[in-house]
Amino acid sequence: MTLPYQCPDCGTELGYKGLCWRCRTAANRRAALAWTPEELSAKEQEIIAQIEDVPDDFWYLLCCRGRLAPEIPRAALAARSFWPSALYYHAPTDVRDGLIAALMETDAAHEANELMMCLGMQGDDQSLAALLALERNPRPWHGKLHVEPSVYAQCGGWTFDREGRRRTLNYDTCYTLVHAASEEELCRSPVRIARPREENCPHCGSRMADMLVLDGRDARLRFLGIDGILTATCCPNCVAYAEPILSRYTLDGGSEVLSYEDTGDTTYIEEELVRIFENDLILGETPVPLFYGARFEDTCTLGGFALWWQDWEYTACPDCGQPMKYLMQIHWEALTDYMEGTLYIEFCPDCQLVSMQHQQT
Ligand SMILES: [Zn+2]
Ligand SMILES: [Zn+2]
Ligand SMILES: [Zn+2]
Repeated sequence: MTLPYQCPDCGTELGYKGLCWRCRTAANRRAALAWTPEELSAKEQEIIAQIEDVPDDFWYLLCCRGRLAPEIPRAALAARSFWPSALYYHAPTDVRDGLIAALMETDAAHEANELMMCLGMQGDDQSLAALLALERNPRPWHGKLHVEPSVYAQCGGWTFDREGRRRTLNYDTCYTLVHAASEEELCRSPVRIARPREENCPHCGSRMADMLVLDGRDARLRFLGIDGILTATCCPNCVAYAEPILSRYTLDGGSEVLSYEDTGDTTYIEEELVRIFENDLILGETPVPLFYGARFEDTCTLGGFALWWQDWEYTACPDCGQPMKYLMQIHWEALTDYMEGTLYIEFCPDCQLVSMQHQQT
């Protein structure tokens, strides 16, 4: 099938005139990165004026510039605008107190749902105390929600246990993946994506893949505290259908996939798998803001916050029972046009276990 138009930047065939979504997002990113201090202030005023229906520029400001002036969550609270929860990321204490008061007052489950996410994003010890109090003494709306307050906290990259002890689940450093400029650059990268393995999947017959091979000894990756190699192994086909697939790594580069369910008829196209293995993605040179990959699906990121298509999901480590730490997201479209959705990689550093799970719209 031939479509009538082409993206002027990349040549992708389109049913409409203009840039494809990927090139448009890239152009918007470039524009946001070039905003002058005056333009930034003007954008913030525009966002505040539209706080009840947050414009895309909010996301470009947060994702590309890592900037969230305290006036923005203040305006959002004043307008009782609790969506998206990222409006309240590390919001100042007066805003936090307002959120807690609103949560303690509300009778409405949908509002409690949004407010608990906002407190998750705010994330300080008073937010923890408020969520812990609600977990210990559930309100009438509790039965209408599907998860506990400690799971709401996870949307802000942390959680707490029964005793109220905090556990951090996200890293406060973020890198994006970029295309290698040369074969040499590709070989040198401490992060490689989708490396084919020798063995085949026992269920569907596909080549198994190391979806991530990461050398934590690289200076850029020291923040992870991995003194060696982390490998994440799964069937790149079955992972889209199965529950999280788990693998166990050793710091010397070893990896063993744990048995996973047979999901029945899963088909794949051999040539597309080969294309996945041919990707040239490597670790970017310098860190990017924490939300860089949390809104727009044109870029894969390591650390920071993920773009969850459904609710956030932190796999419980089968060995120690703790929620795993979020490590990275790989958008399948970055590897092949044939697949959609995102692969999320999490791990338990104590037990050296990795979880790989898939979500899509
Ligand atoms: Zn394009
Ligand atoms: Zn398979
Ligand atoms: Zn564990």
